[in-house]
Amino acid sequence: MTVEQIKATIASIPDYPKPGITFRDITPLLQDGDAFAASIEYFAERYRGSQITQIAAIEARGFIFGAALAKALNCGLTLLRKPGKLPGEVLSQRYQLEYGSDELQIRADSLDKNDHVVIIDDLLATGGTVAAAVQLIEQTQASIQEAAFLVTLDELPGEQKLQQQGVACYTLCR
Ligand code: IMP
Repeated sequence: MTVEQIKATIASIPDYPKPGITFRDITPLLQDGDAFAASIEYFAERYRGSQITQIAAIEARGFIFGAALAKALNCGLTLLRKPGKLPGEVLSQRYQLEYGSDELQIRADSLDKNDHVVIIDDLLATGGTVAAAVQLIEQTQASIQEAAFLVTLDELPGEQKLQQQGVACYTLCR
């Protein structure tokens, strides 16, 4: 299956969740077994044979792609979660949303300097969410190979923001 065929399974929903916003809905991709498998295989091809030890997946839709990719690469899965979901000592990072702010957390003992990590999420928009993920992983001393996304919205500055943090970006669909 080509990337264009995968892209064609992603729906654009006008005026969701608010008027003026076009939401990219990946649920039809997930429901198409060939498209889901092919998207994971594109990611896996890119990282197979590299020294990646952990896929760091962002809650919630990043978990879907992260879990399948970690299985394909036979490496670990590290969860970057919304506040209050992880037991024990956690590192926290707040980040700005269009209105207000949110927070991501990682277990303090989940990564160390021997880890080589790929961050994964379903979609890159303004880059605020992944910037928080980068800051958390940097605190653990792990090295970040790059951040991977199913979709990047080209009209928004997410990729630029990642570049400013010194993190490479890989995206399947634009
Ligand atoms: P950012 O922080 O602005 O880059 O937004 C990215 C985060 O918001 C990701 O975790 C996405 O899951 C979510 N997100 C933002 N816009 C969309 C969309 O159009 N479709 C699906 N998820 C989105």
